[in-house]
Amino acid sequence: MIQAATSNDLFLRAQNSIPGGVNSPVRAFKAVGGNPRFMVSAKGAYMFDEDGNKFIDLINSWGPMILGHASELVQKAVQDAIPNSLSFGAPTRKEIEIAELIVSMVPSIEKVRMVNSGTEATMSAIRVARGYTGRDKIIKFEGCYHGHGDSFLISAGSGAITLGVPDSPGVTKGTANDTLTAPFNNLEAVQTLVEANKGQVAAIILEPVAGNMGLVTPADGFLQGLRSICDKEGIVLIFDEVMTGFRLARGGAQELYGVTPDLSTLGKIIGGGMPVGAYGGKKELMDYVAPAGPVYQAGTLSGNPIAMSAGMAMLTYLNEHPEVYTQLDHTAGKMVAGMQQNLEQSGHKFTINRVGSMFSIFFTDQPVNDFESAKTSDTAMFGRYFNAMLQRGIYLAPSQYETLFVSTSITEDLVEQYVQASIESIKEAL
Ligand code: PLP
Repeated sequence: MIQAATSNDLFLRAQNSIPGGVNSPVRAFKAVGGNPRFMVSAKGAYMFDEDGNKFIDLINSWGPMILGHASELVQKAVQDAIPNSLSFGAPTRKEIEIAELIVSMVPSIEKVRMVNSGTEATMSAIRVARGYTGRDKIIKFEGCYHGHGDSFLISAGSGAITLGVPDSPGVTKGTANDTLTAPFNNLEAVQTLVEANKGQVAAIILEPVAGNMGLVTPADGFLQGLRSICDKEGIVLIFDEVMTGFRLARGGAQELYGVTPDLSTLGKIIGGGMPVGAYGGKKELMDYVAPAGPVYQAGTLSGNPIAMSAGMAMLTYLNEHPEVYTQLDHTAGKMVAGMQQNLEQSGHKFTINRVGSMFSIFFTDQPVNDFESAKTSDTAMFGRYFNAMLQRGIYLAPSQYETLFVSTSITEDLVEQYVQASIESIKEAL
């Protein structure tokens, strides 16, 4: 049984001064019941909370800790950079080095602009697409999350759906009218939208592997089909690789699936845990960004030297160690296979979707390939499963509509522990 008194007290106290007691909604554990754990430190595969509990972490700060927590290599890069200044607000050599590295790693990126979060990256990418095409509308997919920019809070996944507010109050009707939505994996629906809005669609944006409605993989031909529609209609194709970039492969989902978007948005891993995002793509498009071109986008702390140093250490390592991806795929594969084998024998209803080191379990007897099928999962069962896992010292994403991220710190022993705990937890949750 985990201890909870200190975290419970902190959560009560936090609610007096922070909306809902947290600085990002899903952290509040609202969808799974119970109070959030307040963390103190983390190392490798483990996080340690205020009550002295130790958890095997399968979120890894929602993705960036691909090498596990407190990676010595990233921490050293940060420590080395600190004495030189925390921020210059002027260009540095590091910014060129990380841009060159990103360009060399991500197939679609010829030029890249650093920002401070995934939200900034996606907001900026659609502004470029709109500026370049002179069109206003965008198409997004139901259940995909692209950060909290107004244009994206329409049928949004992640925390928005977790809290039951996929369309947020505060988004103007005008903005909402410019966002068209289609079901994920449905090319016909996209074609229909494009025809009904001929010459008005600036961009199609999607998570090439969707991780914000639980994990949903692209059907065969879906990404290629979108590429063809965009080519035919002069629409900018944007892959939001904030989760998948540098995680599914060195060059992200676009490398894995062999489909090249016009623009890509990145985040998480390029900061190695520091607040960073980036957007990049074809020169022709990126040269529309100020001061090279007319589309305005700026940031006081963009290209921050500490964040660049952390990111550079992380990306250099991944670039030089492609075996990381084989290892992660193997580890996550074993975790899923272990569960699958046991659950199938026991006759429970479930679907597990996985690509590389990202996966999620849905408590449904249907295949999950879009938002509608994701919603058939028994979320109450998920909540019970989540809490049973937490009691066994395993920290999962506190919502059905999120994905798990495996790090290289997950050893064979921890895989065993995870599988065993999952089997017991599912039995307990039924
Ligand atoms: N895009 C995707 C696919 C994401 O998963 C997220 C966040 O999880 C974002 C954009 C927004 O990134 P941030 O939270 O850094 O603003």
